[in-house]
Amino acid sequence: MNCLTQDRDYEKKARRYNISLFPIENDCLVIRGVTLNRLAQRIGKTPFYAYDRDRITQRVKDLRRSLPNDVSLHYAIKANPMPAVVQHLASLVDGLDIASSGELRVALDTPMSSQHMSFAGPGKSDSEICQAIAAGVTINLESGAELERVARAAHESDIEARVAVRVNPDFELKSSGMKMSGGPKPFGVDADRVPATLRQISVHGLSFQGLHIFSGSQNLKAEAIAEAQEKTFELTYRLAESAPGPIQALNIGGGFGIPYFPGDIPLDIGRVGENLERLMYQMRARLPHTRVVIELGRYLVGEAGVYVCRVVDRKLSRGQVFLVTDGGLHHHLAASGNFGQVIRKNYPVLIGNKVQGKEREVVSVVGPLCTPLDLLADKMEMAKAEVGDLVVVLQSGAYGLSASPTQFLSHPPPLEVLV
Ligand SMILES: *Cc1c(COP(=O)(O)O)cnc(C)c1O
Repeated sequence: MNCLTQDRDYEKKARRYNISLFPIENDCLVIRGVTLNRLAQRIGKTPFYAYDRDRITQRVKDLRRSLPNDVSLHYAIKANPMPAVVQHLASLVDGLDIASSGELRVALDTPMSSQHMSFAGPGKSDSEICQAIAAGVTINLESGAELERVARAAHESDIEARVAVRVNPDFELKSSGMKMSGGPKPFGVDADRVPATLRQISVHGLSFQGLHIFSGSQNLKAEAIAEAQEKTFELTYRLAESAPGPIQALNIGGGFGIPYFPGDIPLDIGRVGENLERLMYQMRARLPHTRVVIELGRYLVGEAGVYVCRVVDRKLSRGQVFLVTDGGLHHHLAASGNFGQVIRKNYPVLIGNKVQGKEREVVSVVGPLCTPLDLLADKMEMAKAEVGDLVVVLQSGAYGLSASPTQFLSHPPPLEVLV
């Protein structure tokens, strides 16, 4: 087979989706130097998720080049909590953001100091609060009642509790895949109530660390992110007047998105960085003791991961070819279109051991679950596949396994490897 045509066709798909390429060798996808066939043999069974550590490393490097030097970078574990991935990221970023006691445990297993960890999320249990105080992580307060519970736990354990206030800002992040601010929200303290919450922090003698202003997720528009960041700084200057002490850390959220679907244009990170540099220039003068933190999940890991399953049946139904695989919605809810998407679109899917193939065809890729929702690709062009071939879903490094209903239909869970 001609190498050039193979590559060209893969590139065509990559261009349509605007994603960056994994290398191809003998028409087989290569993950950090290992062909997919060999990786599948090494792992011993399908389905599995594979994450490429070099891609994660490179991503953090590239990102740091675009951002102001004095911005701290945190990893939001929620995006991919696999312990090996978190360990790897702990060596690359400046802090870890957690949202449960389970994530706290994974974070504390890394060499990262707990001083650089923060715990956000509504509905923290009393036991999670006690654990967080004992661990010495910063608790991002989500409500006035939570503040009272933190104060009580700190008093009872006689340990100083580090707290920040998570603010529900009075603006939203426009064109965001998931809006998490503006209007009534379960997250954070409404901006107009924050001064009262800040007063309570000093009344209770809690150790004030700063503010957390997260306004949304999965955003591909640099202008929208720049606008939200500008409003975030303005809001911070206003709230700083009521703060019980210097704002040591200002977590301005993140929301940097990655392309998933045809036509998605990757985020212009250079523009985000330039705008942030302008905002930071002002801030260094107005709040000289404040460290700015950006927290990111999918932007760091999303493009480094693939989900791989095997074709177990190939059938023709009324003119349409179905590849039935051993993987599906129960392992990768997002790729099936059921993780908050309004309109289902195909993730980039290909046959990993026949990227170009000898023939191409339009197929639907489904899983083994008895529900029409179990769809990984809907009438998509790919290489003609047979039973035993490997189906690959790209852009699967974030919100994959841990965001999927693995118990549904009682099939075995997939494996995960960091290559
Ligand atoms: C989910 C979440 C993140 C990570 O979002 P990504 O889109 O994966 O970057 C960051 N911060 C908070 C508070 C979150 O809830």
